[in-house]
Amino acid sequence: MIVCKFGGTSVGDADAIRRAAEIVRSRLSQGPIAVVSALSGTTNVLIDIAEQASRGQLITAMSHVEGVRDRHLKVAGQLLPGPGGEDVALELSAMCDEIGSLAEALSVLGHLTPRSLDTVASFGERMSSIMIAAAFNVMGVPSQLVDARKIMITDAQYTRAEPQTDAIAEAARTHLAPLVKDRRVPVLGGYVGATAAGITTTLGRGGSDYSASLLGAALQAEAIEIWTDVDGMMTADPRVVPSARTIECVAFEEASELASFGAKVLHPYTIAPAVRLGIPVRVLNSRKPESRGTSITFDAPRRPVTAIAGKSNVTLVKVRSPRMLLTEGFLRELFAIFERHKMSVDVVSTSEVSVSVTVDDAARLEETIGDLRQLGDVAIEQQRGIVALVGGALSESSDAMSRALACIGTARLHMLSLSATGINLTMVVDGDEVDALLRRLHAEFFEGKR
Ligand code: ADP
Ligand code: ASP
Ligand code: MG
Repeated sequence: MIVCKFGGTSVGDADAIRRAAEIVRSRLSQGPIAVVSALSGTTNVLIDIAEQASRGQLITAMSHVEGVRDRHLKVAGQLLPGPGGEDVALELSAMCDEIGSLAEALSVLGHLTPRSLDTVASFGERMSSIMIAAAFNVMGVPSQLVDARKIMITDAQYTRAEPQTDAIAEAARTHLAPLVKDRRVPVLGGYVGATAAGITTTLGRGGSDYSASLLGAALQAEAIEIWTDVDGMMTADPRVVPSARTIECVAFEEASELASFGAKVLHPYTIAPAVRLGIPVRVLNSRKPESRGTSITFDAPRRPVTAIAGKSNVTLVKVRSPRMLLTEGFLRELFAIFERHKMSVDVVSTSEVSVSVTVDDAARLEETIGDLRQLGDVAIEQQRGIVALVGGALSESSDAMSRALACIGTARLHMLSLSATGINLTMVVDGDEVDALLRRLHAEFFEGKR
């Protein structure tokens, strides 16, 4: 059994969906399960609809609902021209009516809860999976639509729900394994889940990768394939560094550091379920199915620098407290506050009397700061960015580290940290310096300047 996940651009229009069907067909002997994203850009539009409606901009929101309807009906019409297509079109249209009703309700309420946001955002994958399962069947790839909410059981942390792995494994064994045995391809939407009580949740933006690896782990798949719009995991984001190269083989540890520090090609949690069971993950280009892509495994070659990742919009939180000097338990108290507010911390650096941490999610920072103030003076610096140099043998190469530091040049450095595993050198700089630093590092390490 293998899991094939198709990202938004890999199912963005009728031609892309046809390519996805051919890829799945070529893997029929391996027992594929298809996990699909929403048509590219749809989730953004759905989130805009919910936000606009709750702000009272109902007319704008409704015009976007019509845009979603038109696009889905057009693609469905191209893929399913026969009579079976009418049923799918009716179902898609009814779902768009439902989005419209939700938008009306939100505009009356004038308020958007994370729970309602998840309900609206879930429609992208729910609609794409209906259409894609039907298209696969029409193209002679025997498929069965499965509502992901029956399988992907989560807690109730809306917009970033935590999967319940035991319940998922049981549901996957009950609902998916028999289909695969019967030589049918289960087609499920990624990103979407439900609580045990059946309320719709999502796994967080980009979460379809995570759905795929959770299912792969639940069913002990032989491999997890992430089909996307680039040739694999690359030495840097090709949108920022056009000369970035595809990496043939990346270690699990490296891939998860890169994903956490901005390599959007993989959702940061994707690797964890696969690592636990040693299931290889491959990142592949759905436009070039024959190319080798990237394999993420245990036995990748150890290099000082494998790739560089970066992200902006990071917030730096600095806590200064004379109490910290020679007192035990201060750090425990500090991290307990972040834990209580469910804020995940990325980079940490400490001195005798101060601690600096970076966080991605500034939304809930206000309440956290209130609690942190009880420990000492708190300073917040927004619009910072992180650049991470990642390589399995990085800490063994003082040459690589000194070359990396020399690249900082005139950028303002706010924090510097070498991970305990020694595979990640993280630099916190001004957010608007991230891309330039990334390019300088890429030129130094990958563009033959030496
Ligand atoms: P999908 O819709 O297939 O999930 P995403 O847009 O989420 O695709 O992820 C693919 C994008 O990730 C690429 O288009 C690329 O710009 C970006 N990306 C960032 N860092 C990297 C990297 N190191 N290697 C490859 N792609 C990267
Ligand atoms: N459609 C969702 C998003 O855009 C999930 C995904 O594509 O992975 O975030
Ligand atoms: Mg993605």
